[in-house]
Amino acid sequence: MEEVLEALARTDPEAARIVEFYRGSDTSTLVREADRVCRGVHGDGVWIRGLVEFDNHCQRSCSYCGIRKDNANVRRFRLEPAQVVETVREGWNAGLKSFVLQGGEDPAYSVAMFREILDGIFSFAPAAAVVLSVGIRSKRDYKALREAGASRYLLRFETSDPVLHRLLRGGIPLSRRLRALADLREAGFEVGSGYMVGLPGETEQIRIANALLCRSLGLDMVGIGPFIPHPDTPLGNSFQEPIELAVRATALVRLLLPQANIPATTAAGSLHKAGREKLMAAGANVLMPNLTPGSVRKDYLLYPGKICLDESGLDCLRCLDVRTGLVNKVVRTGRGDSPSWTARQEGAKTSKSPLENPS
Ligand code: SF4
Repeated sequence: MEEVLEALARTDPEAARIVEFYRGSDTSTLVREADRVCRGVHGDGVWIRGLVEFDNHCQRSCSYCGIRKDNANVRRFRLEPAQVVETVREGWNAGLKSFVLQGGEDPAYSVAMFREILDGIFSFAPAAAVVLSVGIRSKRDYKALREAGASRYLLRFETSDPVLHRLLRGGIPLSRRLRALADLREAGFEVGSGYMVGLPGETEQIRIANALLCRSLGLDMVGIGPFIPHPDTPLGNSFQEPIELAVRATALVRLLLPQANIPATTAAGSLHKAGREKLMAAGANVLMPNLTPGSVRKDYLLYPGKICLDESGLDCLRCLDVRTGLVNKVVRTGRGDSPSWTARQEGAKTSKSPLENPS
């Protein structure tokens, strides 16, 4: 690790200082600093994105994932474009302006179907921000989806360690994931990625490398979720790490990427009853209430013990209002473009150090 940090100090001295601060700080000190940096850039607002899990078919069999192709216990569903549009309409009518459409890597869901969804949404919500999270696709698909009006794309790399990545993803190399992220940037998307913490075989060095990879990719959005072993997967008997790993990871990413939008993930709330509040206190500034129709919601289980399966999307909104209040923040329902994205659009640049007293 020391050699890695020495090399980092030569190429990105600010990142090296932040990592030193992270390694030398207890969690409450780290969280306090991350919260200060978060409030300095994002104020006390927490953006609300309506999440629609529309398709649990997937051609991959990642070894941690509950909807992996080889899990025969999953009841598969694929919502029609019109159903997705109606689900988004309910969220729009409730005041939401930003929506995440998430599904497995499913070639059967064609670009034409996404066009139908996007046209439908923009017919009543021209100012909505639509985020896609549908896995690796061709460059041509990315370009077509961007032209159809999707403005953001999420594609988590899950681990920056090439060996672990290959093991987790059935032989697919990390480089393929990174190429897709570059393709997304080239297509003009606001780009998000991220990772799990607490995977079997993961070390503290890998966790730090994960956060540094997010910085070197210049991500606009970073999702960090605790690994929760799913019993119907090859990793079902793995050890469950405590929520603190995800809290520290969130704080580190907030310090390394002050302008990124960072969700307090549902996985964190599923692992610990105050998990989302802990991540918001550590610099997360996005929450994603689940708008997925109740008839299929229980069939989209990436991990067990997922919360908010029985509540309606509107119940979730009320609940999240209370939760943000617990950490002295307030919900906001605008588009919530990331400042890094907005700055890039305007050609602006910032080089200010996020740390008040970097050690
Ligand atoms: S992580 Fe994504 S690509 Fe991998 S099996 Fe699950 S849904 Fe499919």
